[in-house]
Amino acid sequence: MALLPILTLPNPQLRQRSADVDPKFLKTPDFQVWLDDLIETMWKADGVGIAAPQVGSPLRVFIAVDGKTPHVVVNPVVTGKSWRMEDGEEGCLSVPGKYGIVRRYRSFKIKCLDRNGEKVVHEPTGFFARVLQHELDHLDGVLFIDRAKKMFNIHL
Ligand SMILES: [Zn+2]
Repeated sequence: MALLPILTLPNPQLRQRSADVDPKFLKTPDFQVWLDDLIETMWKADGVGIAAPQVGSPLRVFIAVDGKTPHVVVNPVVTGKSWRMEDGEEGCLSVPGKYGIVRRYRSFKIKCLDRNGEKVVHEPTGFFARVLQHELDHLDGVLFIDRAKKMFNIHL
């Protein structure tokens, strides 16, 4: 397994809109190895999510952790949102040293493909819903700092 380099601001690749993945490509050994590398890179960086553009691959793919389970999300489409929103803290591997308060939908529904190309629906509430919305934004070149009401520096 190999760790992938995580891009940080102001790298312009973080601001690109990513493209859908051809489902046939999912089955290739290269893609499967790359997914494992992406997951490993996220764990090593203590992340709870990571999106392909953060490692320089402009594809609509991200990893989002629910509890301890990393879910591979490919070509997500939003199919529902709660009317209720809530504020919460967020940080990002591509924005080191900072966190912020971001308003997100309390629950959120997407349909997508998993790493084997099977159709999956995620309909989380709470923290996992927040992670999904944060990672989904990365696929459109949007970062949490664009949405944050307040920003803070992490003092170590
Ligand atoms: Zn992020």
